Amino acid sequence: MPLELANEAVRSSEGEFLIPEANADQRLLEQWVVRRICWPSNSPIHPWGIKYVYPRPDGLSIAVEGDNMASELANALVPRYDPTTGDVYGVPGCRITETGRDGLVLHLLDTDATIHITGIHRKAWRSRLAETDKEMCRAGLRLCSHERPHEWTAAELAYTGHPGHRAVHRCADGSTAWLASGLLRRIGLLRTMGIPLYTTAWTNPADVGEQWILETQYQPLATRASSHHETFLHLLNNEVWGLRLDWTDSHCSCETEYSNQCTFNGRPQLEQAGELQLRFPRRSAERSARLLASPQAYDAHRRVAVRVPARFSPRARVSSALRHAPEPAPRGPARGQAFRAITNAANQATTADRALP
Ligand SMILES: [Zn+2]
Repeated sequence: MPLELANEAVRSSEGEFLIPEANADQRLLEQWVVRRICWPSNSPIHPWGIKYVYPRPDGLSIAVEGDNMASELANALVPRYDPTTGDVYGVPGCRITETGRDGLVLHLLDTDATIHITGIHRKAWRSRLAETDKEMCRAGLRLCSHERPHEWTAAELAYTGHPGHRAVHRCADGSTAWLASGLLRRIGLLRTMGIPLYTTAWTNPADVGEQWILETQYQPLATRASSHHETFLHLLNNEVWGLRLDWTDSHCSCETEYSNQCTFNGRPQLEQAGELQLRFPRRSAERSARLLASPQAYDAHRRVAVRVPARFSPRARVSSALRHAPEPAPRGPARGQAFRAITNAANQATTADRALP
């Protein structure tokens, strides 16, 4: 995040959590966006192609890494429907308009929820959108915004399962939207574990509500592989900027031979539904193998990794951290200092991180 935005976030968060929770409508829009972008097909450099986000309770700004995301987002976000099956692709109820030279605004109909996306030049967006429209047309899909630019189409209403005013959601009652939204608003933390090779996510039904699975593969920066998820769990639970989950189940196999993946399950500390499962695989994957074989691609990924200042790394091992309560959060000016240190480190790492291997 640029330093001026980080400073503004610190100033405006006085007395509140540093990363504000989205309001109900905003959460739903953000959840839909995460659902659609969380399995990128274009191998972006940053996790999900996002350079940084700037969250507010009633809105979110997302800066994507460049024109390479035009095709991905045109496919993932623009709502279209199949008149034969009733399936809706893209974000149902979302209408997208252009703003400025490189901006898009996603607006969820019948709500005030909006997401601003920057980083894709208008020419690239229009070109890819036209291509995608042609492809979709050939596949028999119809563009919702052509049919009803300012209202929900019948297909979108039927697909979301809640016809009528403020119809916004297909996935149960939206009770786990806070989790998807919360992850999106903390996407920068995914760059703190090492060199992020790829990041994907998906959902499963679970007895606690919907379970979100976040799988990330990293190239180690530290001598001990477990340092990656130790740091991430620590940062994700920070009382100033974290999601604050209780880690109910953990399987760290970093120093054993019986598994090639570490897994952690987190439940909300508050009365909320849902569960987050973090997976850190070490197996060889095709997409990471491609990156490792290309010095240029690997170097691009290396540059987005953020080295976390030592004082924000956990002092204890995962097993110990899971047993003890997190440290009390600093209050007052110290909160701002902590965040500035993280964001400064992020900015320095992004621009010239020569310390990384
Ligand atoms: Zn581990």
